[in-house]
Amino acid sequence: MDFKDTPEEAAFRTEAHSWLDANVPRREQPNQTWASTLESKDSDNIVRLAKEYQQKKYDGGWACLHWPKEYGGRGASPIERVIWGEEESRYLVPSGVFDIGQGMAGPVLMQYASEEQKQRYLPPMASGEEIWCQLFSETSAGSDLAGLRMKASREGDDWILNGEKIWTSGAHYCDYGIIVARSDVDVAKHRGLTFFFLDMKSAGVEVRPIRQITGGSNFNTVVFNDVRISDSQRLGEIGGGWGVALTTLMNERVSVGDAPGPNLDQALALAETIELDGQPAIRNQAVRSQLAKWHCETAGLKYTKYRSISALSRGETPGPENSITKLVGATKAQEIACFGLDLMDAAGIVADEALVESDARFQLAYLAAPAMRIAGGTDEVLRNIIAERVLGLPQEPRADKGMSFKDIPSGA
Ligand SMILES: Cc1cc2nc3c(=O)[nH]c(=O)nc-3n(C[C@H](O)[C@H](O)[C@H](O)COP(=O)(O)OP(=O)(O)OC[C@H]3O[C@@H](n4cnc5c(N)ncnc54)[C@H](O)[C@@H]3O)c2cc1C
Repeated sequence: MDFKDTPEEAAFRTEAHSWLDANVPRREQPNQTWASTLESKDSDNIVRLAKEYQQKKYDGGWACLHWPKEYGGRGASPIERVIWGEEESRYLVPSGVFDIGQGMAGPVLMQYASEEQKQRYLPPMASGEEIWCQLFSETSAGSDLAGLRMKASREGDDWILNGEKIWTSGAHYCDYGIIVARSDVDVAKHRGLTFFFLDMKSAGVEVRPIRQITGGSNFNTVVFNDVRISDSQRLGEIGGGWGVALTTLMNERVSVGDAPGPNLDQALALAETIELDGQPAIRNQAVRSQLAKWHCETAGLKYTKYRSISALSRGETPGPENSITKLVGATKAQEIACFGLDLMDAAGIVADEALVESDARFQLAYLAAPAMRIAGGTDEVLRNIIAERVLGLPQEPRADKGMSFKDIPSGA
């Protein structure tokens, strides 16, 4: 395979680079980044900065590159999207705020919404003016999403939603959400679900922030009390919500592929700065061997991602193999954060950006890392997907297979 830019790709890279150079500060050191919303205690500030940057990108024609132009994108190819990502990562930009909207809600609207709805909702999603969240998980339905209990009852041309969602990232600052609810309890659990979108300011929606180990509160419980939404906000068929949710989740695994937190370059920079046994840590054999391992994994992830992107450019839908990048990336991010803390010795336990190396990025990432191994599919669930759907191994036993939902025993 030849990964060198074609003349057209090289021209695109130059154009992207020139725009970024003119509009965004470059990273002065490899370890200089904005904290992600997951790590930060101040998500309001990150959201403000992210909105400003997104609007700038939109005005310059660099938002949602792969979306059609009429919906606020650039109509770029998957490879151009990768080139943009590579160039943008050299600059100091806020990230994470629009991933759910642009990476999941956008593609779902593109596939299932009416033309009028696409014209209404996609451009403000691309410009960052409106932010979207994903209301899927419930206390009894995370990995087993199809077991969810949020109730959708039909009333004329409307639906009434009742129940509780949990772990909804960004619900406290989001304008709209995509939601999956149970519309029929008499059929098997996967067949009784229906998918909608809604205004987060609808009457009866209550957002309750959850405090995280990082000190921030980026995700929430969202309570629905007789929330009335129109049937025109349904995406897909009644009872077809599972298929729509699966499309969303596959897009999630593509968009969450790069775990936040320090990367190999930042680990390398730290090892060059910190002293170990009277010399820079980078000279230590154990440190070098760890860095070499992550170098190999980083390269493996990069080319695995390129393989998915080549598939996308052939018009194929993202497949279950995308689970590999999320599984390996999240584990690697946690290992790198832990390595940073080890190298800093006693300072490793100080999570104060004013007092320790690298603005306490390693400490914050260490606290946030376990969440990345859960969000977007836990390690175990991703391993099951890889085993069953990529390697073709036998399915794990599913005791409730074929049972109607109301007959499945519950603790409630
Ligand atoms: C930072 C963060 C952000 C999130 N943001 C959102 C969001 O915006 N919207 C949203 O809807 N949800 C969100 N979630 C929720 C996330 O999707 C769920 O936490 C995740 O799907 C796991 O579900 P659970 O927490 O209910 O754990 P469970 O499913 O109860 O799992 C508990 C444990 O059992 C293991 N397990 C479960 N099933 C199996 C199995 N079949 N085989 C082997 N092991 C198994 C799991 O791996 C895990 O270790 C977020 C989570 C996090 C951490």
